[in-house]
Amino acid sequence: MNPKTETPARAPVGLISSAASPRLLTDRREQQVATPWGTASVLTGRIGEREAAVVLRYGPKLTIPSHKINYRANIWALRELGVQRIISQNAIGSVNPVVKPGDIVISHDFLDRTKSRPLSLFDDSECWVRVDMTEPFCPEVRASLLEATASMPDRVLHRGVFACVEGPRFETPAEIRALQREGADIVGTPMVPEVTMAREAEMCFASIAPVINYGAGMAPAVIHVGPGSMNDEYYAGGLHDRIEKALIDAMARLPDHRGCKCGQALRGGFHGQRPGWLANCSIDEQAGSTLPAALEDA
Ligand SMILES: [Zn+2]
Repeated sequence: MNPKTETPARAPVGLISSAASPRLLTDRREQQVATPWGTASVLTGRIGEREAAVVLRYGPKLTIPSHKINYRANIWALRELGVQRIISQNAIGSVNPVVKPGDIVISHDFLDRTKSRPLSLFDDSECWVRVDMTEPFCPEVRASLLEATASMPDRVLHRGVFACVEGPRFETPAEIRALQREGADIVGTPMVPEVTMAREAEMCFASIAPVINYGAGMAPAVIHVGPGSMNDEYYAGGLHDRIEKALIDAMARLPDHRGCKCGQALRGGFHGQRPGWLANCSIDEQAGSTLPAALEDA
C-alpha cells in the first residue's frame, strides 16, 4: 500500500512512546484516526522493514500528562490501523535497590496504583469483559524484546514488577517504601491502562523500560536538566539511541503470525450487548450466551 494515499496504512506493529526519532520511524506521516472516544493522532511509517504505527502518548510537544491521556482513543486507533502487537517504551524509576539507573527492565507483571483513569474500553457500553491477566504481558513480544536486547552493553533484567502510579508528580519516600513492600521493582505513570485496554482489544502488549532514576528517598532528589540530570544520563549517555536500535531489532523479530493467546482474550469473558464498534474479535467464534443456563431466565 502506498503510504502517501489518504487510505490509512495497514500497520502490523505498534509503538507507544514519548518520542520517536526520524531514524526510528522513517517515511512518517501523521494520521488522525476517528474512534468512539474521539480522534487520535498517530504517526505511521516504517520501523526497520516493517510497517508501523506510533502513538506519542504525551503529544508531539509533550503537553499531555499521564492522567489526561486519551488511552481508549489511542489503543483503538492503533487497532483501527491494523496493529496487532504493541511495544510500549517507558522511561521509569527504580523502586528495588537492586535495579539501577542505566538498567533495562522487560516487565513480566504490574501493579495498578492509578486513581482516576478509565478502567475499560467498555465503560460506556451495555456490556463488560473480564479478561485474564495471569500473564499480563505478551510472551511473544517479551521474547522479541529479550532477544533484541541480549547483545546490548546495558544490564537487561528479564523480569520485573512495574508499579503504575497516577502522577503527574513523583512519589513520596513513603510511597516508594510502600511499593517496595508490595513487591514492585520499577515505577512509572502511563503504562496502565494501556496494557489492560490492549488486552481488551485482543492486542499483544509488552514494555521495554530503561531505568533513569531512583525513587524518592533512595538517592538525592532527581535533577531534570543539566549535567548529571536524569535526561542527561539517558540521552547524552546513549541509552535512548540503544533503546531505539533494540526496538527496530525487536520489531523485526516478531513472527508474522501470532502464536500467543492475546487474540482470544474476550472469548468466554464477554457479557452483555456487543457494542457496534467492536468488530473482528474472538467473540465472533463464541456460540450463544456466556451465562450459566440457570441464569438465562433470571
Ligand atoms: Zn500476544
